[in-house]
Amino acid sequence: MFEIKATDLAGRIGEIRTKSGLLETPCILPVIHPVRQSIAPKEMKKMGFKAVMTNAYITLKVFGKKAEEKGIHKIINYDGIIMTDSGGYQVLEYGSVEVNPVEMAIFQEKIGSDMALVLDTPTGIGVDKKRASETVKITLKAAEETLKAIKAEGTLWVGPIQGGSYIDLLKKSAKLTSKMGFDLFALGSPTEVMESYDFDLLAKMIIAVKQSLPIDKPLHLFGAGHPLTIPLAVALGCDLFDSASYMLYAREGRYMTDYGTLRFDELTYLPCNCPVCSEYTLKEMKELEYEERTKKIATHNLNVLSKEFKATKQAIEDGRIWEYLGMKAKAHPKLWEAFKLLIDHYEFLEDGTPLFKPRALFFYGFYDLMRPESLRYHKRILEDISIPSEKKTLLILPESDVKPFYKSPFYIKLANALGNALKEIQICFLALPFGVMPVELSDVYPLSQYVSAIRPDGYVMREILERTKEFIRKHPFEKVILLNKLDAYNPIFKRMVRSIRNCDIINVTSTANNFDEIVEEILMNVAKGKSQV
Ligand SMILES: [Zn+2]
Repeated sequence: MFEIKATDLAGRIGEIRTKSGLLETPCILPVIHPVRQSIAPKEMKKMGFKAVMTNAYITLKVFGKKAEEKGIHKIINYDGIIMTDSGGYQVLEYGSVEVNPVEMAIFQEKIGSDMALVLDTPTGIGVDKKRASETVKITLKAAEETLKAIKAEGTLWVGPIQGGSYIDLLKKSAKLTSKMGFDLFALGSPTEVMESYDFDLLAKMIIAVKQSLPIDKPLHLFGAGHPLTIPLAVALGCDLFDSASYMLYAREGRYMTDYGTLRFDELTYLPCNCPVCSEYTLKEMKELEYEERTKKIATHNLNVLSKEFKATKQAIEDGRIWEYLGMKAKAHPKLWEAFKLLIDHYEFLEDGTPLFKPRALFFYGFYDLMRPESLRYHKRILEDISIPSEKKTLLILPESDVKPFYKSPFYIKLANALGNALKEIQICFLALPFGVMPVELSDVYPLSQYVSAIRPDGYVMREILERTKEFIRKHPFEKVILLNKLDAYNPIFKRMVRSIRNCDIINVTSTANNFDEIVEEILMNVAKGKSQV
């Protein structure tokens, strides 16, 4: 029912098989009112939205049993994929609804929902733990009753996960719900978290839930229609989204951009080329009646959301979701905070990060040292690489502009000059995005395919020094020689000399005869290393 086609970090591109067709994920389902629609679902389909979400509870209230004869596809006049919400949102807003989960389950099946939600009791944010715990219990019970009540095949059922911002409750809810046999799962109502830009908490909530769910089932994130939330939530493994934000924002005069929202009234330009913004000038848009203008802004907002999903999916395909998220994160300090949180979740993110990617990795600063590819490499040279025991000297060179490093002219010249002595010397490069890199590995991906702007600042030095020490502890060399031929490496090499045992530095200058002297000095150091043992 769910097939995963590509992954990067915890994000994935997949396909859900529904009775109304295939749905590529990640994607967003615009929320539409079953009766009053300013943008017809048909128009949405033309814009590329293959699925929408509508409310089964309101449908029941308005159409009663007649809805069962007509079916939800006819009611909203849409032949795409329809997910129905079951009134949980109304429970959150008004405290309760007049139907029970079993009635709602049977009703949703009868109206032909492609994907249907259990009538849950959303926890909300800011409630005390006792109440939060109650909502989890009530929701679990509703989930059980729903699965018992359903008969027809065809509708995919979404298991609701509640717990609000209580991470332990979310985990418990996810674990118990995952055992019940749902086709998909949904993380309940973090809308308030997103509205307050608490992306850090949002990331923690998603990670907790993802770690408690089976990896092969899609996860829906309720009410996540802010353009900045999307790449973060997708990178953490959310597959489906729904949101009324395009319309709610439009009503408040909020115009979406790739990096957030702007006040429409304060715009001097229309920074967009979507069909709406291409057809109208800003002046023309401002002169429209409120309803008409709201519809235009809402349509524009939908275009922005659609574009964001396309860009995020392309980033997954390219293996660049880390870079993409890093770029987006700069749009808001709170998103940057959430991005930084990722460095604590190596194992969670590493699973879905491919070993080989179609493109080079980009490194900008310290945080990129914590991306899964870099940490994975470091783990690998500690656990999987063996260095011949006769290589008792470690010779470290700064990274070279030529990649793979073994092709750099300086290395070739040096290796030739050292000749037989190489049996006793392990040459490594110090590549700032990774740490020490044995020359033999320098043509392995991603060591041969990366572009880095990382400079040895305090954080980088500390991390690289630590990785180098771990490497030396694992492969006990008797002598370490640092060949300093780049000024930028002065500070880090100086630190290494101070904190690594039997470590010497040889400074390379560009004077003539210098090369022979270097070779001689290396050989002398190798000999000295032997006599020290
Ligand atoms: Zn536009």
